[in-house]
Amino acid sequence: MPLRLIEGDITAQAVDAVVNAANSTLLGGRGVDGAIHAKGGPAILAECRRLRQTRLPDGLPAGQAVATTAGVLSARWVIHTVGPVFSRREDRSALLHSCYRASLEMALQLGARSIAFPLISAGAYGWPISDAVTIALAELRAAPAQLDVRLVLFGERIFDIARQAWDRPLDAAPSA
Ligand code: ADP
Repeated sequence: MPLRLIEGDITAQAVDAVVNAANSTLLGGRGVDGAIHAKGGPAILAECRRLRQTRLPDGLPAGQAVATTAGVLSARWVIHTVGPVFSRREDRSALLHSCYRASLEMALQLGARSIAFPLISAGAYGWPISDAVTIALAELRAAPAQLDVRLVLFGERIFDIARQAWDRPLDAAPSA
């Protein structure tokens, strides 16, 4: 199934799994994280707390993914992944690639047939939008064919940047 780019709010997507751009505490934050907990209700945070008390006492490392209930969202699962904070001194892009891969893998393990991603690390974690889009598209275009995959861009400006990257031939150099 082809990847779809959508402008909008990830919490409004009718999909099996919604990906959360979480932080490693798994205890909530702003941006996508705040929106998912606000709309999904307290069951999500309760399960995150249980994960911290059991499998993940030190939190979820960047680049990895873990699933919980989606509470009262229409999705069945939230897949929490922790993007790397952008750094000019250190190339952390392998971790950002890993977030998409680990989340797709988790979706397959759960038996999800559809999944919506936000643009991981491109908000509070400071990743330059066009670079974040390039990484997201590289990974999501290679997603397993049985998955219906959506990349949800928040706001017209970010959607337009993604749209342009999408239309660019794959071997063209990315523009700044
Ligand atoms: P991170 O901490 O990984 O940078 P953020 O949640 O701060 O994550 O931002 C990631 C991206 O998600 C940004 O492009 C931000 O504009 C976007 N975003 C924020 N809220 C939503 C939402 N409700 N739905 C979809 N995308 C959102």
